[in-house]
Amino acid sequence: MDQSPTVWRDAQPLVDSATPMIDPFGRAVTYLRVSVTDRCDFRCTYCMSENMTFLPKKDLLTLEELDRLCSAFIAKGVRKLRLTGGEPLVRKNIMHLVRGLSRHIGSGLDELTLTTNGSQLARHAQELADCGVRRINVSIDTLDPDKFKAITRWGELDKVMEGVRAAQAAGIHVKLNAVALKEFNEHEIPELMRFAHGEGMDLTLIETMPMGETGEDRTDQYLPLSLVRQRLEEQFTLDDIPYRTGGPARYVEVRETGGRLGFITPLTHNFCESCNRVRLTCTGTLYMCLGQDDAADLRTALRASDDDAYLSAAIDEAISRKPKGHDFIIDRNHRKPAVARHMSVTGG
Ligand code: SAM
Ligand code: SF4
Repeated sequence: MDQSPTVWRDAQPLVDSATPMIDPFGRAVTYLRVSVTDRCDFRCTYCMSENMTFLPKKDLLTLEELDRLCSAFIAKGVRKLRLTGGEPLVRKNIMHLVRGLSRHIGSGLDELTLTTNGSQLARHAQELADCGVRRINVSIDTLDPDKFKAITRWGELDKVMEGVRAAQAAGIHVKLNAVALKEFNEHEIPELMRFAHGEGMDLTLIETMPMGETGEDRTDQYLPLSLVRQRLEEQFTLDDIPYRTGGPARYVEVRETGGRLGFITPLTHNFCESCNRVRLTCTGTLYMCLGQDDAADLRTALRASDDDAYLSAAIDEAISRKPKGHDFIIDRNHRKPAVARHMSVTGG
């Protein structure tokens, strides 16, 4: 059962921070993404099948355990922490975790943020802002309510828009994420961009990644962002800019709108060289690379001892196995996902 944490540890680093996490390729790990649940109230066609089997609730780390793990990473040099999922805001009592983690902001942690589908954002926006969340990502692939329903299977665009407005009203900077999908939204991208920029939001486009069975054919959905960019350049002037948010997106500034547009291109451009992140699942499994199956079981280390030195050693061992890069390829013959787990397990 999901438990609310009752005892939070104080803000002091739990583990000796004298050993920052440096992987075998010299990359410092400073960014932790945490999938707090594999469940979701949407079933986006590129992400999940309609009849997903989710983890039994008893397999999930409690919120207190998640806090302890995140705090151990912060003590070891993580400066940016993103809660994701599944849908992070459907995890019961998630705001207890957010409030608890917010104690690290300014004492180790530079940024606490989340990626959400926005369905539950309206009711949580003010509390998120009160907890020091300054920026969030909201996923919107289309501005057409019928198409939105079709791509998410279960989502309501109105509710998401209400969430976006509530977040903005609470002073949170919203960035929109859109997965670029062949024939679905490829001709709507200029409109999506004008809308985002008109509302003071950045827009980031994501290429579909071949993760998990979805009941859809990935090769039918895949739209290379190089083509999207080429088409946008027929209408807009895109200036490359060095702006970074600690993630893999490469940004341009669009002269006509004055806004920023990001491109995340795992398949057409290798973003591994500067990878600074690892991903934790809601069961305490640490994936050192989004595009590889190798993982470390931190739940066992967490539960084996109250001594955080034990956990710290398990984290160090995992980081020593961080691979150089991913192996995503679209398999045109077998049409199988390159990575068997769904994006909702590791949170993107
Ligand atoms: N539920 C939240 C949301 O949708 O924003 C957070 C989790 S979701 C897995 C994180 C991001 O991954 C979303 O922007 C989503 O569009 C993207 N995503 C999901 N499956 C993907 C896939 N197969 N390829 C590329 N992006 C994907
Ligand atoms: Fe849910 Fe996000 Fe996956 Fe859509 S992309 S099904 S909202 S986890």
